[in-house]
Amino acid sequence: MAETHAPCVLVVEDESAQREVLKYNLEAEGFEVKLAENGDEALLLVQEERPDLVVLDWMLPNVSGIEVCRQIKADPDTRPIPIIMLSARGDEVDRVRGLETGADDYVVKPYSVVELMARLRTQLRRTRPATMGERLSYSDIILDAGEHRVFRGGKALHLGPTEFRLLSTLMEKPGRVWTREQLLDRVWGRDIYVDTRTIDVHVGRLRKALMTHGGDNPVRTVRGTGYALG
Ligand code: CA
Repeated sequence: MAETHAPCVLVVEDESAQREVLKYNLEAEGFEVKLAENGDEALLLVQEERPDLVVLDWMLPNVSGIEVCRQIKADPDTRPIPIIMLSARGDEVDRVRGLETGADDYVVKPYSVVELMARLRTQLRRTRPATMGERLSYSDIILDAGEHRVFRGGKALHLGPTEFRLLSTLMEKPGRVWTREQLLDRVWGRDIYVDTRTIDVHVGRLRKALMTHGGDNPVRTVRGTGYALG
């Protein structure tokens, strides 16, 4: 995960011991971890930090896990964030209700950490393949996130770390139009101030690198908005 940002996981759990166990295990796996102890805090952190995944306890005081899930999935900006619900209640009715709220997966307490990590990786491989070391391809371009290599038409390309992160973001969602702000959040992180024009400079470098051995420019400028692959 060295050259792409580690996925950020938000853990929402009111019991501090369980929260700390999850934090410890997630950090040991290389994830960045944010913690919330109630639903209001969770919703605020989802807006501010845009985590890549939420591990959400069902039983929370005040705003329930189900309500947090419903609100995250009701907002088009946060809807794509996968949610794994944790619950002590394991019967089928609860399971169905959990999934109807829009949760992407459901783990029954007491759960094994190994199982939870496997479920989490399954979700992240789907939504953030580059951060999980997957091999992405688009047209004649291949990005191997595990090996940190990029090929076009079978020939190796040399990309700087920023251009690599930019390309992996674009290749995770070909065709999606990214605003400059969204790319800055994804490529540089939300906590760093970078002028949006900086993105144009790096897109220029990325295009040049991608066309080293010929071929069309695959990174489209969307006027007044940002960029898209294809
Ligand atoms: Ca709880």
